[in-house]
Amino acid sequence: MVDKYSVFSVMREALRGHTGWRPAWRDASPVGVYDVIIVGGGGHGLATAYYLAKNHQRMRIAVLEKGWLGNGSIGRNTTIIRSNYLLPGNAPFYEFSMKLWEGLEQDINYNAMVSQRGVLNIIHSDAQRDAYARRGNSMRLNGIDAELLDLAALRAKVPYLDYENARFPIQGALLQRRGGTVRHDAVAWGYARAADHLGVDIIQNCEVTGIKTENGKAVGVETTRGYIAGKKIGLACAGNSSRVAAMAGIRLPIESHALQAFVSESIKPLIDNVITFGAGHFYISQSDKGGLVFGGDIDGYNSYASRGNLPTIEDVCEGGMALMPMLGRARLVRHWGGIMDMTMDGSPIIDKSPVENLYLNAGWCYGGFKATPASGWCFAHLIARDEPHEVASAYRLDRFAKGYVIDEKGVGATPNLH
Ligand SMILES: Cc1cc2nc3c(=O)[nH]c(=O)nc-3n(C[C@H](O)[C@H](O)[C@H](O)COP(=O)(O)OP(=O)(O)OC[C@H]3O[C@@H](n4cnc5c(N)ncnc54)[C@H](O)[C@@H]3O)c2cc1C
Repeated sequence: MVDKYSVFSVMREALRGHTGWRPAWRDASPVGVYDVIIVGGGGHGLATAYYLAKNHQRMRIAVLEKGWLGNGSIGRNTTIIRSNYLLPGNAPFYEFSMKLWEGLEQDINYNAMVSQRGVLNIIHSDAQRDAYARRGNSMRLNGIDAELLDLAALRAKVPYLDYENARFPIQGALLQRRGGTVRHDAVAWGYARAADHLGVDIIQNCEVTGIKTENGKAVGVETTRGYIAGKKIGLACAGNSSRVAAMAGIRLPIESHALQAFVSESIKPLIDNVITFGAGHFYISQSDKGGLVFGGDIDGYNSYASRGNLPTIEDVCEGGMALMPMLGRARLVRHWGGIMDMTMDGSPIIDKSPVENLYLNAGWCYGGFKATPASGWCFAHLIARDEPHEVASAYRLDRFAKGYVIDEKGVGATPNLH
């Protein structure tokens, strides 16, 4: 059976009808007691399992996924990665993630189509220019690449925006060249395959329905495939975080909201970077198949349904038309929703829970895809060593009670405004 993907193995398998590939991961069933159980087979859960197996001492690890790998937000997001953060708690973490993205495909031997095509944040007012200049300066002080483009430079780069008659006149942009896109479901499959090769049991169709505690310690989980004992249990359930944490009696400062994504019919190559509108919530890129991939705001009401409502579609399309009127000529062919675990400050939680041996990875809002490698790395570090990784040390659960929020957007405790 062939294990490693390479030019030679692809050529050899092409000649023998692709009969020699080993399955990307085993269809494991739960067995015995695990050293670590990760609940949630999304990007963060799978990355955590991989880095636990790779970076830490030998242990038995299981990932429990209620559906199939990639059914959650890891396979539903708009694939943008960037590290253009301002605040001290965030900047080092997201830059660490960017560096991991840059070496990920070699590390896990999987083509995740990491494409550093650049992320442009469009500027529409003097005040916004000041804010983006400040952000860019802060990024550069943190060793992160950032460039402030004036109108002429932006126009030369993306000539097709509405520069003449715009409702919100364009003045320039903040550019992070190392930002870009990554094929989202390939990230789940790549981490799953790499973790499986290191002996992790990936158990699909296994929903956790209860968390068993004894004397204040988590000792195992009830699942639709029976009871599974674990010495340590990590929750990485993204949009379902509050529901699963509630099984251990924990009330998280998280609300779940729907967020939609949209894809147009395929058109010739047009947009060769990621563009975000600065006067509303709209962002767009083009997939390698030619579809324009775009999104905007969360739906603004609490929901666990993976679909959104029509007024939000109208709002997103209005944002797109205000920036790029030619979008009105493209036909929308697909849209879908995912569930966002919105915290009260828009930043995540990677921390121990109040229940011993139970660890939390949650609150990724609509920005958790870009965080996947760093989140997995840091959550694995926390679980293995019982202390936070230095770049994730600000993501404490108690910051909401103590007032040390990391409010990157500055909108306060209002998840629907993040
Ligand atoms: C439309 C959309 C666009 C987005 N765009 C971007 C973007 O461009 N850039 C970016 O950085 N982020 C983006 N995000 C956010 C990002 O996708 C998420 O923050 C991130 O994927 C969440 O982490 P995850 O991959 O682990 O989540 P998920 O893939 O949702 O994984 C959680 C898993 O837990 C499982 N689970 C839940 N409950 C249980 C249970 N009881 N038992 C067992 N398993 C359980 C779920 O089935 C799921 O598979 C977007 C999200 C959406 C929906």
